[in-house]
Amino acid sequence: MSKSSTSKCSICEGPVAARSENDAFPFCSKRCKQRDLGKWLGGNYVVAGRPANPHEIASEVTSDSD
Ligand SMILES: [Zn+2]
Repeated sequence: MSKSSTSKCSICEGPVAARSENDAFPFCSKRCKQRDLGKWLGGNYVVAGRPANPHEIASEVTSDSD
């Protein structure tokens, strides 16, 4: 019996790699992921940077600790 977890990219309908090895999951690539984001944001907003780094946020929070 084979695993029936074959994911399909909702943007280009191409095969999607497993989440553990796919940074853009559930899309096939970062390109498609950004296309989906752009779709929601109106299609004219280009995502240039990466998502906020949790470590940066953490250091900001802890820097104000007692
Ligand atoms: Zn795709």
